[in-house]
Amino acid sequence: MARVALVTGGTRGIGEAISVALKAAGYTVAATYGGNDEAAHKFRDDTGIHVYKWDVGDFEACKDGIAKVEADLGPVDVLVNNAGITRDGVLHRMDPAAWRAVIATNLDSLFNMTRNVIEGMRNRNYGRIISISSINGQKGQFGQANYSAAKAGVFGFTKAVAQENAAKGVTVNAIAPGYIATEMVKAVPEEVLKTKILPLIPTGRLGEPEEIARCVVFLAAEEAGFITGATLTANGGQYMT
Ligand code: NDP
Repeated sequence: MARVALVTGGTRGIGEAISVALKAAGYTVAATYGGNDEAAHKFRDDTGIHVYKWDVGDFEACKDGIAKVEADLGPVDVLVNNAGITRDGVLHRMDPAAWRAVIATNLDSLFNMTRNVIEGMRNRNYGRIISISSINGQKGQFGQANYSAAKAGVFGFTKAVAQENAAKGVTVNAIAPGYIATEMVKAVPEEVLKTKILPLIPTGRLGEPEEIARCVVFLAAEEAGFITGATLTANGGQYMT
């Protein structure tokens, strides 16, 4: 039986590439999304991948959604925590709603999703948890106190949960992408991209979503069982830790 992989925010951008790559690698894939029905339905029709809609910032919605996925497809073996948003602004002008939204979607989601699959993985002695952080969680970024805090939190979560589950065949890892050509980066003004971001990337280009998907497929494999608590960085050489 094919292993089941669940990708949050798996219908657009990096998540779309992850869903497609996992399907190509032989997984049965469930892709979740938050609100963009049009993009999700197009993705489903184009790829044949199952889609599910719920808010990853809501614990009960995650619990119910995962139960539905498992009833439809079987137990989740691979969880990819990918859904994320930005609400940029300098801290001295940031309102509580922009802080909360980013923490809820990018960090609370790790608890909400992982908590609802981890017991099953432990019982089956197998699992892969892969969370998408960011270069800006590693180095901080002007105008992104909320996002940098959430993405830095991903590393602490990953290292703690990796220790708790290593003896149960469950690996827990993070990926830290640099700037990738998706809607999220298209929201950055062209001028800022050209003058402030591209000159900092030694490869001289943005990354492609497929280049992050490749990292996920690598960490999801059974053969990656000795890699846990790690961060795989893919940023074109922009920041070396
Ligand atoms: P996109 O904006 O292109 O896609 C985001 C996806 O997440 C969509 O499927 C969206 O659903 C879903 N989503 C957003 N909020 C929620 C929510 N509350 N509940 C459920 N699903 C939600 O983002 P990217 O592909 O660019 O980013 C993917 C991940 O990679 C994020 O975690 C991001 O922080 C991270 N990242 C991105 C980088 C980049 O350069 N693009 C760089 C480093 C990290 P819907 O379609 O319904 O809106």
